[in-house]
Amino acid sequence: MNISFDLDSTLIPPGNEFEAEKRNFFIKFLGVEPIRIGTAKVISDLQKQGHTIHIYTTSFRSQIKIRLMLFYYGIKVGKIINQSQNQRTLKNRNINASKYPPAFGFDLHIDDLKGVKMEGERLNFKTIIIKPNDKNWIEIIQKGITFEQ
Ligand SMILES: [Mg+2]
Repeated sequence: MNISFDLDSTLIPPGNEFEAEKRNFFIKFLGVEPIRIGTAKVISDLQKQGHTIHIYTTSFRSQIKIRLMLFYYGIKVGKIINQSQNQRTLKNRNINASKYPPAFGFDLHIDDLKGVKMEGERLNFKTIIIKPNDKNWIEIIQKGITFEQ
Protein backbone atom coordinates (compact mmCIF):
# COMPACT_ATOMS: atom_id res chain seq x y z
CA MET A 1 0.00 0.00 0.00
CA ASN A 2 0.95 3.62 -0.43
CA ILE A 3 0.88 4.99 3.10
CA SER A 4 1.20 8.67 3.97
CA PHE A 5 2.17 10.20 7.30
CA ASP A 6 1.23 13.61 8.63
CA LEU A 7 4.09 15.52 10.29
CA ASP A 8 2.93 17.92 13.00
CA SER A 9 1.76 16.20 16.19
CA THR A 10 2.03 12.85 14.40
CA LEU A 11 5.78 12.50 13.80
CA ILE A 12 7.02 15.92 14.93
CA PRO A 13 6.16 16.72 18.55
CA PRO A 14 4.09 19.86 19.13
CA GLY A 15 5.78 20.34 22.49
CA ASN A 16 6.76 17.70 25.00
CA GLU A 17 3.75 15.46 24.34
CA PHE A 18 5.90 12.60 23.13
CA GLU A 19 9.51 11.59 23.39
CA ALA A 20 11.74 12.51 20.47
CA GLU A 21 14.97 11.08 19.12
CA LYS A 22 18.09 12.71 20.51
CA ARG A 23 19.70 15.52 18.50
CA ASN A 24 23.16 16.88 19.11
CA PHE A 25 23.99 20.58 19.26
CA PHE A 26 25.13 20.78 15.66
CA ILE A 27 21.98 19.16 14.35
CA LYS A 28 19.83 21.54 16.38
CA PHE A 29 21.94 24.39 15.02
CA LEU A 30 21.21 23.21 11.47
CA GLY A 31 17.51 23.38 12.26
CA VAL A 32 16.76 19.66 12.06
CA GLU A 33 13.47 19.21 13.90
CA PRO A 34 12.87 16.57 16.54
CA ILE A 35 11.09 13.40 15.48
CA ARG A 36 8.98 10.95 17.46
CA ILE A 37 11.07 8.20 18.95
CA GLY A 38 10.67 4.99 16.95
CA THR A 39 9.72 6.72 13.68
CA ALA A 40 12.67 5.44 11.65
CA LYS A 41 12.04 1.87 12.79
CA VAL A 42 8.29 1.96 12.09
CA ILE A 43 8.84 3.36 8.62
CA SER A 44 11.60 0.91 7.74
CA ASP A 45 9.51 -2.01 9.05
CA LEU A 46 6.60 -0.93 6.86
CA GLN A 47 8.91 -0.61 3.86
CA LYS A 48 10.25 -4.11 4.50
CA GLN A 49 6.64 -5.33 4.47
CA GLY A 50 6.38 -3.91 0.96
CA HIS A 51 4.65 -0.61 1.65
CA THR A 52 5.71 2.70 0.14
CA ILE A 53 5.83 5.53 2.65
CA HIS A 54 5.07 9.17 1.87
CA ILE A 55 4.70 12.44 3.79
CA TYR A 56 1.48 14.45 3.57
CA THR A 57 1.48 17.64 5.62
CA THR A 58 -0.54 20.84 5.67
CA SER A 59 2.55 22.76 6.74
CA PHE A 60 4.46 24.97 4.33
CA ARG A 61 7.88 23.46 5.10
CA SER A 62 9.72 22.98 1.82
CA GLN A 63 10.04 19.49 0.41
CA ILE A 64 13.82 19.69 0.49
CA LYS A 65 13.81 20.70 4.16
CA ILE A 66 11.59 17.74 5.02
CA ARG A 67 13.64 15.34 2.93
CA LEU A 68 16.90 16.46 4.55
CA MET A 69 15.41 16.18 8.01
CA LEU A 70 14.22 12.63 7.30
CA PHE A 71 17.59 11.79 5.72
CA TYR A 72 19.33 12.79 8.94
CA TYR A 73 17.23 10.19 10.77
CA GLY A 74 17.93 7.57 8.09
CA ILE A 75 14.42 7.72 6.63
CA LYS A 76 13.72 7.64 2.91
CA VAL A 77 10.23 8.34 1.63
CA GLY A 78 8.54 8.50 -1.75
CA LYS A 79 6.48 11.64 -2.23
CA ILE A 80 6.43 14.66 0.04
CA ILE A 81 3.26 16.71 -0.26
CA ASN A 82 3.26 20.04 1.57
CA GLN A 83 0.49 22.60 1.91
CA SER A 84 1.37 24.53 -1.25
CA GLN A 85 0.97 21.44 -3.38
CA ASN A 86 -2.00 20.21 -1.36
CA GLN A 87 -3.94 23.46 -1.81
CA ARG A 88 -3.15 23.60 -5.53
CA THR A 89 -4.22 20.02 -6.20
CA LEU A 90 -7.37 20.08 -4.07
CA LYS A 91 -8.45 23.39 -5.59
CA ASN A 92 -7.95 22.04 -9.11
CA ARG A 93 -10.03 19.00 -8.25
CA ASN A 94 -12.65 21.07 -6.46
CA ILE A 95 -12.30 19.11 -3.25
CA ASN A 96 -13.46 20.81 -0.08
CA ALA A 97 -11.32 19.20 2.63
CA SER A 98 -8.08 19.83 4.50
CA LYS A 99 -6.62 16.62 3.12
CA TYR A 100 -7.53 14.18 0.37
CA PRO A 101 -4.91 11.41 0.14
CA PRO A 102 -6.36 9.71 -2.99
CA ALA A 103 -5.46 12.83 -5.00
CA PHE A 104 -1.82 11.84 -4.54
CA GLY A 105 -2.24 8.08 -4.88
CA PHE A 106 -2.17 7.36 -1.12
CA ASP A 107 -4.25 4.37 0.01
CA LEU A 108 -4.05 5.07 3.73
CA HIS A 109 -3.18 8.21 5.69
CA ILE A 110 -1.89 8.40 9.28
CA ASP A 111 -2.72 11.61 11.17
CA ASP A 112 -3.38 13.00 14.66
CA LEU A 113 -6.60 14.85 13.80
CA LYS A 114 -10.11 13.50 14.25
CA GLY A 115 -11.20 15.98 11.57
CA VAL A 116 -9.11 14.10 9.01
CA LYS A 117 -10.78 10.85 10.05
CA MET A 118 -14.17 12.52 9.52
CA GLU A 119 -13.09 13.76 6.10
CA GLY A 120 -12.08 10.19 5.32
CA GLU A 121 -15.54 8.96 6.26
CA ARG A 122 -17.18 11.66 4.16
CA LEU A 123 -14.91 11.35 1.11
CA ASN A 124 -14.20 7.64 1.37
CA PHE A 125 -10.51 7.38 2.18
CA LYS A 126 -8.78 5.33 4.84
CA THR A 127 -7.13 6.85 7.90
CA ILE A 128 -5.42 5.77 11.09
CA ILE A 129 -5.53 8.34 13.87
CA ILE A 130 -2.83 8.41 16.54
CA LYS A 131 -2.86 11.03 19.26
CA PRO A 132 0.32 12.69 20.55
CA ASN A 133 -0.16 10.99 23.93
CA ASP A 134 -0.78 7.49 22.52
CA LYS A 135 2.03 5.45 24.05
CA ASN A 136 1.12 2.45 21.89
CA TRP A 137 1.07 4.42 18.63
CA ILE A 138 3.24 1.88 16.81
CA GLU A 139 0.84 -0.92 17.69
CA ILE A 140 -2.15 1.21 16.58
CA ILE A 141 -0.48 1.75 13.19
CA GLN A 142 0.47 -1.90 12.73
CA LYS A 143 -2.99 -3.16 13.70
CA GLY A 144 -4.67 -0.51 11.56
CA ILE A 145 -2.66 -1.48 8.50
CA THR A 146 -3.30 -5.19 8.97
CA PHE A 147 -7.01 -4.41 9.25
CA GLU A 148 -7.07 -2.26 6.09
CA GLN A 149 -5.15 -4.67 3.86
MG1 LIG B 1 -0.99 16.93 12.51
